[in-house]
Amino acid sequence: MDRGWLNESACRGLDPAIFYPLTDEDAEEAKSICGVCPVRDACLEHAIGHREHNGVWGGATERERQRIIRRRRRLRALAASGSATVGAGEAAGAVGH
Ligand code: SF4
Repeated sequence: MDRGWLNESACRGLDPAIFYPLTDEDAEEAKSICGVCPVRDACLEHAIGHREHNGVWGGATERERQRIIRRRRRLRALAASGSATVGAGEAAGAVGH
């Protein structure tokens, strides 16, 4: 996978420890940086695609990424069954912090 997006990241050169908080409650500093990052979507998709289990990626903690994955699975299942109209924002699993 192309990781060229890392060159544009808002966290480039920052202390990586910021993005590996001990608890979700300590993730606010990382999330605020991610909030202004121009490659946030690519970062989130990378983390989801590679099953990153630690840290804040794309503005989402591991718990939040799991929530996004579960939501996407539910929406895919609904779309496959033809019983729902899926909005673009929902299908993308927007983080929305
Ligand atoms: S979204 Fe956050 S963790 Fe990902 S590249 Fe941007 S600043 Fe770094």
